[in-house]
Amino acid sequence: MSVRNTGGVPDRIVVVGGGVAGIAAVEELRTLGHSGKITLIDSGERPYDRPPLSKAFLLGEADLERIQLVPEHWFDDKDVELRARRSAVRLRPAEGLVELDDGSHAPADAVLLATGGVARALPVPGGDLPGVHVLRTIEDALSLREALVPGARAVVIGGGLIGAEVASSAVALGCEVTLVEPVDPPLVPAVGTEIATLLHRQHTQAGVRVVTDTVARIEDSPGHLTVVTGAGKACAADVVVVGIGMTVPEDLARSAGLDTADGVIVDAFHRTSHPAVFAAGDNARVRQPDGTLCRREHWQAAQQGGRAAAAGMLGQPLPTPDPDWFWSDRHGVHVEGVGDLRSAGRHVLRGVRGKLPLTVFNLADDGRLLGAAAVDDTRAIAAARRLISAGAAPDPELLADTSVNPRAWLRR
Ligand SMILES: Cc1cc2nc3c(=O)[nH]c(=O)nc-3n(C[C@H](O)[C@H](O)[C@H](O)COP(=O)(O)OP(=O)(O)OC[C@H]3O[C@@H](n4cnc5c(N)ncnc54)[C@H](O)[C@@H]3O)c2cc1C
Repeated sequence: MSVRNTGGVPDRIVVVGGGVAGIAAVEELRTLGHSGKITLIDSGERPYDRPPLSKAFLLGEADLERIQLVPEHWFDDKDVELRARRSAVRLRPAEGLVELDDGSHAPADAVLLATGGVARALPVPGGDLPGVHVLRTIEDALSLREALVPGARAVVIGGGLIGAEVASSAVALGCEVTLVEPVDPPLVPAVGTEIATLLHRQHTQAGVRVVTDTVARIEDSPGHLTVVTGAGKACAADVVVVGIGMTVPEDLARSAGLDTADGVIVDAFHRTSHPAVFAAGDNARVRQPDGTLCRREHWQAAQQGGRAAAAGMLGQPLPTPDPDWFWSDRHGVHVEGVGDLRSAGRHVLRGVRGKLPLTVFNLADDGRLLGAAAVDDTRAIAAARRLISAGAAPDPELLADTSVNPRAWLRR
């Protein structure tokens, strides 16, 4: 690629994938003054947002129109050619072309791969039987919504963020829900033990039957499915939902000879191993300063990745990164996590263990705030985000004191 460059800056940019990473990249390209041609290729009808698929959309509280990522006029406003219902099938860097599934080509001086991922299939016998659902796309959500009728026996496999949200939505829809998850509690790396325990207990309180086990197989029984666990427990199901993470198809990246390792490897500017190809969002694994590779499968990380890739393409400085942040909604509570709760640090609690609202802070040995997670305390997380960005070492007593407004932490 780099066929037509104006002073080293690509003129014609092709973005493959109209998820939050692709849309954020286009926005940023125009904000940064890119006036060249932008083509957005997406295999779907119109770019939509995924988080509602397990929440408001599954519950029937939001329709397709409500979950569009951008309004229809956005493409004209941004002067973007949208090639919807088309898939990129091959990147041809040497010729400056992206090949589409209808045999046409999009000329490109630079390409952003923002193709996301696909739901991980359950690798056990019966894992692909009819009636076994995953949840990644609008089509998945529509078919799941049809199956989650009142009284249906739903077995959700996987108690991570999406599995837990589906279990919660299924209960709200009147289903009889069983959640099978081998780890008790799940999500400790994301939210810490205290919050993970509280969240996992909520399933039982909401009427979900929790089975702590692996799944050995799914059987096609007369009139229903049977999920058989590792310990041999049989769970009858009218509908099975598998929520065990995602994988990244690598065909497109491989067609351009890009370096991959369970995703496309990129640097901080989201440059791949080819100088004219960038990658951002769920499909990218970003090389960290210590050399490790990291993929953050959250909305805000995809948005930031798209923006960083835009800056990288135009040779402009990186936008200031925000600490990693995600949210989740289940059983009527709002969960947020920011920064790093994985690394060993000192945990400080704001609130009473096991009760709502609850926030946990992870402090480094030198007192700096590394990460925080909260249930129903958005103000605490908003303040924690700013403290983490500033590299601040807040007073642990103030963090723990529920009578102190989180905004006061920022004044010190
Ligand atoms: C059900 C669900 C609930 C979630 N809830 C939350 C939440 O509450 N909070 C949170 O922080 N995160 C949540 N996430 C995660 C978040 O939605 C993702 O991290 C984010 O959507 C990733 O954006 P992306 O742009 O990288 O990929 P995607 O959103 O997957 O978009 C990729 C796009 O590329 C297109 N595409 C793929 N291959 C091709 C091709 N060859 N040619 C053309 N187009 C192609 C796809 O059709 C898709 O439109 C949720 C995810 C799911 C699935």
